[in-house]
Amino acid sequence: MRQPYLKSNLVALATKVLATAFAGIALALTVDALIGVPAANAAQPPKNIIIMFADGAAPTQWDFGRYSSRVLRGQPFVTTDIVFQQGTLGMLSTHPSNGYVTDSAAAGSAMSTGHKVNNGAVAVTPDGKPVATVMEVAKARGRRIGLVTTATVYDATPAAFSLHAKLRWQYQALVDQYLALEPDVLMGGGADYFLPKGAPGSKRNDGKDMIAAFRAKGYQVMRNTAELNAATGPKVLGLFADADMDFELDRDLARQPATAEMTAAALNALSQASPNGFVLLIENENIDTAGHANDAASLMRALWAFDDAVRVALDFQRRSPDTLLIVTSDHESGGFSPTEALRDLSKVSWENRFNPGEEQLRLLGRITMSFNAVREKLGGRPSGEALDELLARHFRGFKLDPDLRELILKQQTREHNFTYLPHNLLGRMVARQTGYYWGTSGHTTQPVLVGAIGPGAELFRGYQDNTDFGKHLHRLIQGK
Ligand SMILES: [Zn+2]
Repeated sequence: MRQPYLKSNLVALATKVLATAFAGIALALTVDALIGVPAANAAQPPKNIIIMFADGAAPTQWDFGRYSSRVLRGQPFVTTDIVFQQGTLGMLSTHPSNGYVTDSAAAGSAMSTGHKVNNGAVAVTPDGKPVATVMEVAKARGRRIGLVTTATVYDATPAAFSLHAKLRWQYQALVDQYLALEPDVLMGGGADYFLPKGAPGSKRNDGKDMIAAFRAKGYQVMRNTAELNAATGPKVLGLFADADMDFELDRDLARQPATAEMTAAALNALSQASPNGFVLLIENENIDTAGHANDAASLMRALWAFDDAVRVALDFQRRSPDTLLIVTSDHESGGFSPTEALRDLSKVSWENRFNPGEEQLRLLGRITMSFNAVREKLGGRPSGEALDELLARHFRGFKLDPDLRELILKQQTREHNFTYLPHNLLGRMVARQTGYYWGTSGHTTQPVLVGAIGPGAELFRGYQDNTDFGKHLHRLIQGK
C-alpha cells in the first residue's frame, strides 16, 4: 500500500513529459501530477470510520511509544510500525483562530467541523455560529455513532466531535446535549454530571437523573469493567469514574476498563444492526494529561494502552476492509524532548554527559505511581518525610535534588511556563536522571500526524491544516 499513488503519478508524469515533448501539451498538467493533488478516490467511500485519537501526541510521543514498546515490552508499536508505515501518512497544522497554540476544544472542533474556532469553543465559530460536527453529519446520514474516551465523556475532544458550546466548561449543558443527540455508544469518565444534585459525587445543579434518562431511551448502562465485558446491547452508556479515568499506573482494573477493552466493546455494539455503517471516535486523554504533568512514565503507559486499542481497531479493519481507520491527534503536550544531559553540574565535559538509552528507560519503567497520584496522596502541603517516603517506595532509584525538594515543599515554580505542582518538579527529577526532559506544562505548536488505512485514506496524505481533516471526514461521510 506504500505510496501507490505517488508511483502511478510518476509514471503518468513521465508519460506526460514525453507527450509534451512531441505534442506540446500544457505544462500545467504535469505540474498538477507532480504535486500529487489527492485524487477524488472517495468513489468507494468507507462504510465505517474509526478515529483513534491520542490527545497530546506528536511525532516525539509516537516515537517514544515505538522505542519503549520495543525495549520494555518486546513488541512492535502498531501505530508507527503498521498504521504509519503501511497506511497513508499526513501532517496537520493545529493553530486556532485566535492565536498560535491550540487547546483541545479548538483543535477538535477544526478536525470535526472543518472550521477554525477560538480556544475553548466547542464547534462554535468566533462569530457565535454552531457548525455541523462529524457525529451530527454521520447521524443525519443514518450512520450509528460512538464516542469513547479516558477523560470525562463531556471533555473537549468528544464534545467537539459531536456537540456545541461557546465554552468547553459548560459541562452540564454538554451532557444534556448528549441525551438529545443519542450517540449509540458513549463511554468514559464523568458520572458527576449524570447524577442528580444531592447524590454522592454529583456536580449537577438540578435534580435530573441523566443515567435514568439514558436508560429510558433504551441504553444499557455500565459502571465497571465486568459490566462492560458483559454488555451485549447495541446502545450503551459506560461511566467508569466520577471525573477522568485514572492513569494506567494507578488504574483499578476491576473498576476502570482499559482503552482496548472499551474499543472492543464499542465496536461490538456499533457493528450490530448497522446497514449504513458507523463513525467511532476513541480518545486516550491520559497522553495529554501526562504531558501537562511532565510525567514520562505515565506517558509511556498511556501510549501503550492507546496502541493496544489501535491493535483492536486494526484487527476490525482487516476483517471489515470497507472500514477507514485513522490514527491521529490534536496537538503536542509538554514540549517532550528526550535529550542528552549532564549527569551533574560539577563539570561541563563529555565524560560527565549521558545519552538516554536502555538503562534510563529501565529506570523509568520501575516507577509505580503517576505524579497525579503523588499529588493526591500528599495533598497541597506535604511534609518532607511524607514526600521522601513516597518517592522511596514508588520512584526506586531516583534522587530528589535539594533545589527541587525545596520548591515542592514550598509549592513554588521557577518558570512561568511550568504551572503543575508538584508534577513538573517531579518531572524534572526524572529528567535529570533519564534525559526525558520537557519544555512546558502547556501545549506546543508541533504539527500532528495522521495515519490512515482503508477507503478514503489517500485524502489525508501530505501536509495539511486541521480544518482539511474535518472537510475530508464530512465528504467521506456524505459519500462524495
Ligand atoms: Zn491538554
